[in-house]
Amino acid sequence: MTVFVPGPQLLESPRRRPWPLLPAAAAGRSDSPPRTADVVVVGAGPAGLAVASALWHHGVQDVVLVDRAGRPCGRFFGRIDLLRQRVLRSPYEHHPGVEGYRDCELMDFARLHWSLLTAVERREIRMAQAGHRSVVPVDVFEAYCAHLVSSHRVGERTWQGTVRELLPSADAVTLRADGFEVAARYAVLCPGEERRNAPDAWWGGGPPPDGIGYWDEPVPDVGRLVVVGSGLSAAHLVANALAGGGRVHWVVRRTEEIYQCADVDSTFFRPEGRARFDSVGWRDRLDLMGRYRRASVMFEFRPGFQRAEAEGRLTVHRGQAVAGVADEAGAGPCVRLADGTRVFGDYVALALGTTPSIGKGLLPAKAIGERDGWPDLDGRTLAYRAAPRVFAVGALASMVLGPAARNIDGHRVATARVAAAVAECLRHDRGAPAAARNGAPASNGALAHVR
Ligand SMILES: Cc1cc2nc3c(=O)[nH]c(=O)nc-3n(C[C@H](O)[C@H](O)[C@H](O)COP(=O)(O)OP(=O)(O)OC[C@H]3O[C@@H](n4cnc5c(N)ncnc54)[C@H](O)[C@@H]3O)c2cc1C
Repeated sequence: MTVFVPGPQLLESPRRRPWPLLPAAAAGRSDSPPRTADVVVVGAGPAGLAVASALWHHGVQDVVLVDRAGRPCGRFFGRIDLLRQRVLRSPYEHHPGVEGYRDCELMDFARLHWSLLTAVERREIRMAQAGHRSVVPVDVFEAYCAHLVSSHRVGERTWQGTVRELLPSADAVTLRADGFEVAARYAVLCPGEERRNAPDAWWGGGPPPDGIGYWDEPVPDVGRLVVVGSGLSAAHLVANALAGGGRVHWVVRRTEEIYQCADVDSTFFRPEGRARFDSVGWRDRLDLMGRYRRASVMFEFRPGFQRAEAEGRLTVHRGQAVAGVADEAGAGPCVRLADGTRVFGDYVALALGTTPSIGKGLLPAKAIGERDGWPDLDGRTLAYRAAPRVFAVGALASMVLGPAARNIDGHRVATARVAAAVAECLRHDRGAPAAARNGAPASNGALAHVR
């Protein structure tokens, strides 16, 4: 009998192939951006890239992107490579390309470079074409992002810098970064998510003691690794250590680890899921976010982990909350579990997830209108209600778009709304008649707010 269960070979893909790419202008420029722009974008990750590409299609080209890493998608691929992740979790139809235009999408790009793909990678494209779930190589995704950067002239409009302040006024938004300032008509916040730090109670707060670190920092090759966390980053740390011949203790808070294809229930990637979210009030939305956005691991990891556990190379501490983590003098780093068990290793890697940046520390608190950790956004345009010249794309739009806002596909939906609204606001500012809407969300709301 054939069992159609995806196998671990899908987790492997070569990296750094010689993709033929369009010539790119240098990104991460060291000179300062212009002092004024139509639009400033904070963050040039997949969300910022999607926004800049969509604005390009709307004819909005006076755009300045400011990103800490300087390189578009620099943090995204930096994190992925640190974890030695070779494939994305999201399928081919989730990509930062632009919705509603004749543009080269991720699958088109992969098919154009068929000769560079392995047999497994080609089969995944066939799966995507047949409407099945598919696995996308990081290598293909990165080359596609580079293609978007060049073809939509994003690299030459991206400056390296840390944005310290975003000050909205009635007719402009001023971005203040280290060493430069840009006054723009509109701003789009795409700051992504920061890693979640350990509770203060674990070791008294502050940076971790010796021998303990986070998933987005290099993990040393050690004989005994302790991993805390239940998501995909934790799974990569476990898999890497096992592949290196180490022994792993894996601390999982739930009574069992969850293996599933996507990190969000797949209905939330579709209109029916978004409509379900849209139709309920704030409390129910919080509940849906909690229930359908759970830490989980790609299905393909399961056979390898089961084998390692059976062979005694992997010990999984299930249903265990962590009470503390310490570097115990002489015995090395140790995780203390709620039931009193002490788990010792040569190094402890914490993979506790991420928290969305919502504009705190950048925008005035009044502009954010924070409620339960989320910003107060206009449901149609994703503009901050109290700062209508500032728009949000990415995880921070979750309470409007649902749990999938944190994924690349959610950025696609948010970008379509925000780019249309910004372009229409700019047209209105210039006295041009409103464009035919062609089914795009009307941005009358945005215009009314700005006025
Ligand atoms: C290891 C890993 C794998 C993932 N895999 C997938 C996947 O397969 N599919 C999927 O849909 N999602 C995946 N995700 C979730 C993923 O993070 C998002 O989909 C995507 O990165 C979000 O894009 P973003 O642009 O919102 O955020 P980021 O990629 O984090 O980009 C935000 C950028 O803004 C910059 N920034 C923030 N604040 C400032 C500031 N004040 N000044 C200047 N710059 C600033 C950051 O430095 C960063 O460069 C993954 C996440 C991780 C960590």
